[in-house]
Amino acid sequence: MEDTLTIATAEGVRIYAITTKNLVQEAADRHHTSHLATAALGRAMSGALMLAATMKDGERILLKLKGDGPMGEVVAEAQGTSVRGYVGEPDVFMPLKNGKLDIGGALGQGTITLTRYLQNGESFTGHAELADGEIATDITNYLYMSEQTPSSVALGVLVDKDGKVLAAGGYFIQAMPGCDEEVLEKLGNNVAVTPYVTQLLELGYTPEKIIEVLARGLEFDIKESMPVKFSCGCSKDKILNMLAALSKDDIDYLTEQPDTEVHCQYCNKVYHFSSEELKQLKTN
Ligand code: ZN
Repeated sequence: MEDTLTIATAEGVRIYAITTKNLVQEAADRHHTSHLATAALGRAMSGALMLAATMKDGERILLKLKGDGPMGEVVAEAQGTSVRGYVGEPDVFMPLKNGKLDIGGALGQGTITLTRYLQNGESFTGHAELADGEIATDITNYLYMSEQTPSSVALGVLVDKDGKVLAAGGYFIQAMPGCDEEVLEKLGNNVAVTPYVTQLLELGYTPEKIIEVLARGLEFDIKESMPVKFSCGCSKDKILNMLAALSKDDIDYLTEQPDTEVHCQYCNKVYHFSSEELKQLKTN
């Protein structure tokens, strides 16, 4: 089944639901992540894609959760239907907590930062303390504290003992301004009796089916469904532009090396630059 994002409206509320099994597997393969890092990265990327769906064409979301725990940070960037991301320590390991991957323990205490890059070239960045480091609650808390938006976010990634992604995805319910209190209460009750999102995903629920479960008893309208994917926009030219911003001494040092290897942080692709290629930086 293809990774899919579905958007619906229900009586003044927007509901987003997403499946991301394939793209989380791709990110895990690229970054060689541990079970724990795969789950954290998968949750962050799923959340970032749904947040990006609230933005206009060409706008971008950068979601960063950074803590004092052994994982360091989890970063996901989404634009439209594409997402990329990485974790600070891809091989992080923690004992299970209550039989579950301890993402909150691996992140520790810290901050969630969300930057929205707008069409007009402006960007807005907000911060909040991590609520529990489990990512979904942190996003909900951030949206409420920093952007005064009531929402409900659930994210889940199920990884088998060999590290293979069995299921991934989540949902995001966002109240629109002026939304009826009764509708919110009804949705709140629905959420309270809905199984964990990981269980729904494991059962093979599509985003549309997840929305049906969440919005039962309400008038709802499926607006659109679209495929989503892992995609990194890096290229040799872009990396070369970044290297051009280094100090003259650093560039001098690199041009003396026969080969310079640069990893893209987001997709782990390796780029090689010869001394000759780097010498161009000095003439440009
Ligand atoms: Zn890349």
